[in-house]
Amino acid sequence: MNSTHKTKNSARLFDAAKKVLPGGVNSPVRAFQAVGGTPLFIREARGAELRDADGNRYIDFVGSWGPMILGHAPSRVVSAIKARSAKGTSYGAPTELETELAEKIISAFPSMEKIRFVSSGTEAAMTALRLSRARTGRDKIVKFAGCYHGHSDALLVKAGSGAATLGIPDSAGVPRAVASDTIVLPYNDLAAAEKFFKDAGETVAAVIVEPVAANMGLVPPVAGFLEGLRALTKQYGALLIFDEVITGFRLAYGGAQTLFKIEPDLTCLGKIIGGGLPVGAVGGRKDIMELLAPLGPVYQAGTLSGNPLAMAAGLMTLEILDDMNPYKKMEAATEKLCGQILAFAQWLKIPVQVPQIGSMFTVFFSDAAVYARFFHALLEHGVYFPPSQFEVCFVSAAHNPIILKKALKAITQSLERTSHA
Ligand SMILES: *Cc1c(COP(=O)(O)O)cnc(C)c1O
Repeated sequence: MNSTHKTKNSARLFDAAKKVLPGGVNSPVRAFQAVGGTPLFIREARGAELRDADGNRYIDFVGSWGPMILGHAPSRVVSAIKARSAKGTSYGAPTELETELAEKIISAFPSMEKIRFVSSGTEAAMTALRLSRARTGRDKIVKFAGCYHGHSDALLVKAGSGAATLGIPDSAGVPRAVASDTIVLPYNDLAAAEKFFKDAGETVAAVIVEPVAANMGLVPPVAGFLEGLRALTKQYGALLIFDEVITGFRLAYGGAQTLFKIEPDLTCLGKIIGGGLPVGAVGGRKDIMELLAPLGPVYQAGTLSGNPLAMAAGLMTLEILDDMNPYKKMEAATEKLCGQILAFAQWLKIPVQVPQIGSMFTVFFSDAAVYARFFHALLEHGVYFPPSQFEVCFVSAAHNPIILKKALKAITQSLERTSHA
């Protein structure tokens, strides 16, 4: 990549990181393997802007992969974290903050009566499966190809093309026996799910689904898909789990389930509810949630679960979201931006798709190598997109019209350069 874009310091920091961290990172997509080049080491961020170790500034559309819906370092959230940290950072004993955040979430999600806080979305999904299996006395889990539910063994299964496939692990180190209890079906294909349930519905503990798939690009559900899953699971006595780790408090304050008016049995949350600190949660009807220890036989625990700093950051984030209700504005801004990107790409005769829902979108090229060129051109023009076109872009409440206008200019210039290469 010939460029004026300085990456000397990031390159040095990456070299040092690679000596002590596998691949130089603590989460694989950060390493830029899909787009090439050096991952940027971030020094600080505020509002919609990131600054890297070489002093470059970017308009950020990654938002830490979803949590930063208010932008970076919102002053009231920072103050809440500061105030809490001065009083100690973890006690291993209950605090009233956990009750307050739970009440706040329950008031937004009518399907939830009780919540258990964990430290990541992965843990939330893992616990949801254990609860489902305990509740139903069945072992099989149905998931959909391309949906991501964190990296627990049972859910690291994507399987092959098209038809219903018995789980084949997607990662080395996942026991075949564990993967074999995970059934992978095609997303948005209700007929395939109906067919599977007709044959084996009585063995299914739960269906877990991203109500809007946002880990294979962006794929909204087709009409009737989620409704059909709700009806099928009910008919066969299986639970329906909505993984709203991305969509919760993002698509709408009450998540995709409010938008589509469907009540799952269990919901997984993460990302936004921690205000940028590590939090996950699983919640649902009382009769299911009370199977958890200490009330019930399902064991689950965590040294840092319900951590006071994370609860304070999450609570302040949700209070701000509840007060300002930025959803309509973010959606309108995102829709406008995507329309402009698509129109410009079409004018350049670049074949792209720009799927968008709420404040989430992707710019998807038929050729991943073209996305890589686009991505690097964007960096040089001061815009930070995800380093893989299968990850979604997020617009935050801090992306005001002036910033978005600047971003659009950078995006169109980058598209132009991409088409010339
Ligand atoms: C991010 C994500 C997870 C995993 O959350 P972590 O906090 O990274 O463990 C699970 N499900 C969905 C839909 C996600 O987007």
